Amino acid sequence: MHPHLKYLIELQAVDLRLIEIRERMSRFPKRLAELEGRVNAARQQITTAKDALTGSLKERKTYEMDVEQWKERAKKYRNQSGEVKTNEAYKALQHEIQNADNEVAKAEDRLLDRMVAGEEYERQLKAAEATVKQVEAAANVERQKIQAEYNATQKELTAAEAVRSGAVAAVPEDLVDHYERIAKRHGGISLAEIRGEGCGQCGVHIRPHVIQQLQRPENEEFFHCETCTRILYYADHGAAPESAAVSSAGVPAAPPHEN
Ligand SMILES: [Zn+2]
Repeated sequence: MHPHLKYLIELQAVDLRLIEIRERMSRFPKRLAELEGRVNAARQQITTAKDALTGSLKERKTYEMDVEQWKERAKKYRNQSGEVKTNEAYKALQHEIQNADNEVAKAEDRLLDRMVAGEEYERQLKAAEATVKQVEAAANVERQKIQAEYNATQKELTAAEAVRSGAVAAVPEDLVDHYERIAKRHGGISLAEIRGEGCGQCGVHIRPHVIQQLQRPENEEFFHCETCTRILYYADHGAAPESAAVSSAGVPAAPPHEN
């Protein structure tokens, strides 16, 4: 195996990890926004209930005034009824009194409806306030959990970046550039392990001569997949006391071949 390939394999493994970690990092703002959205929606229920209650109280005041006004009128007509001279005028006045009494009854009904509705709105407001308390308490727990996850992920990121720096430092700069150019074109994956007789990434058949070369421990040549252009390597998963060190970094084991 080419002496630098081992580090490229390490680099590949840590880069895949970095992609995964960064993807997780990128989800945190959305998770927090969803959380705040839930709290705000609950708080909005309080505002809605308060508005309904305020409206209901205003209507109640109006209907109270209606009741008073119609009662006043009925009283005025009753007072006048002692002073009328003609039977006709008396009848007309009685009619007015009856009408005013009816209006008092209607206004009192409307007022009662508003009072019942007002109680319902008060009940809704109390329920909304209780819900907000629960949602806020749950959100606080969730926020702390997300924060803890974020901190842990940030640590993972820092650690993975350190591993990457180590791998990059072990490889000549132009080879790192070459690796990164391929990675950029192929979703971050610039290495392809030989699987059976094919490229482990795109599946295309690899010429036996190339596989034989890659299997030779003294090989110092790089080969690329002719189809996906990735750097090919051969990993002997059968043999391997030395694979442990590489595997521990979460890397596909790639020990030097023994033959
Ligand atoms: Zn390929």
